[in-house]
Amino acid sequence: MISGKTRVLGVIGHPVEHSSSPAMHNAALQALGLDWVYVAFAVRPAELRAALAGMRALQIRGLNVTVPHKVAVMECLDELSPEAREIGAVNTIHNRDGRLIGHNTDAFGAMESLRQEGGLEQFPPQAALLGAGGAARAVLYGLLQRPEVERITLLNRTPEKGEKLATELDPGGKRVRVGKLDPQSKDQVRDAGLLINATSVGMHPRQGESPLADPSCLRPGMVVLDLVYNPLQTLLLRQAQEAGARPVDGLGMLARQGARAFEIWTGMEPPVEVMRKAGMERLGKPVI
Ligand code: NAP
Repeated sequence: MISGKTRVLGVIGHPVEHSSSPAMHNAALQALGLDWVYVAFAVRPAELRAALAGMRALQIRGLNVTVPHKVAVMECLDELSPEAREIGAVNTIHNRDGRLIGHNTDAFGAMESLRQEGGLEQFPPQAALLGAGGAARAVLYGLLQRPEVERITLLNRTPEKGEKLATELDPGGKRVRVGKLDPQSKDQVRDAGLLINATSVGMHPRQGESPLADPSCLRPGMVVLDLVYNPLQTLLLRQAQEAGARPVDGLGMLARQGARAFEIWTGMEPPVEVMRKAGMERLGKPVI
C-alpha cells in the first residue's frame, strides 16, 4: 500500500519501459515489508539536469541510471564513489540528506555473480573479455581488482576502443593486452580459464549470433559469463554448455548489481534470491 510516508526509488533512462529493475526492487521492498516504492522514469537527455533537480526537491531516496545517462549524469552529482570515478560511469545515485552520491555497482554485480553462479572463489590467472563498451569497462575494472588475474585479453570489434579502455584502466599495460574480435577469434581465448562476453552480440533481435563463430576454444573447466540477458539462454552459452564449460547467464549480475544498489539506499541486507526470481519472471517473458 502507498501511504503518506512512502519513500520513492526509481530508474531513469530513455527508453526505460522494458527495464526489469522495477520488478526486482519492488519484490525486494515487499519481501522486507518496507513502505517504499520503485518506479521507472523516462527522462530525455535534455531533461537530465532537471530530473536530478527534481530528485533533490522531491527527496527521492535513490535512482538507478541506465542508457543513455550513465556518463552524462556524473556532472550533475555532488560526489562520486571511487569505483564510479574509475569506471567513468554511474548506475546508482544515493540521495544522502540532500547530497547526491554516484556509485557504480556493475563491477560488483559481475564479480559477485562469477563467485556465486560461476563457483569462482579464486579467479583463474588468465581471462578473456569481449567488448569495450560501458559494461566491458565495469567488468575490466572488476577483474583488475582481483590480484590473482594476471593477464586479461581484451578483444573488441573496433580495437582502437579496446586500446583506449586498456590504457585508461591499466596505464602501464602490465596486465591487459588488446586484440581485434572477429568471428574467427579463438587463439587469443584458448588459454583463458574465464571468458566474459560484454558485447551486445546475441541480444534480441539477433539471438542467432555468437561473438565466437568458431567455439572450438571453449573447453571443460572454463567459466563463460554472458552479460546479455535478453534472451537469457544465448547461443554463446549453448556453445559453452556443449563444450563442457560452465555457462553463467546475465541474470546473476543484473540481480546482484541491483541488490548492491538496494543495500546502499536502504542500509538493509538485500533479499538477492527474491530479486533474482523477480528478474527471472520478468525476463522469462520475451522482451520485445
Ligand atoms: P555498449 O556500450 O553499446 O557496447 C557494445 C559493445 O558491443 C561494444 O564493444 C561493441 O563493439 C560491441 N558490438 C556491438 N555489436 C557488435 C557486433 N555486431 N559484433 C561485434 N561486436 C559488437 O553496450 P553496453 O552497455 O556495454 O552493453 C553490452 C551488453 O551487456 C548488452 O547486451 C547489455 O544488455 C549487457 N549488459 C548486461 C548487464 C547485466 O547486468 N547483465 C549490465 C550491463 C550491460 P564496438 O566498440 O566495435 O562498437
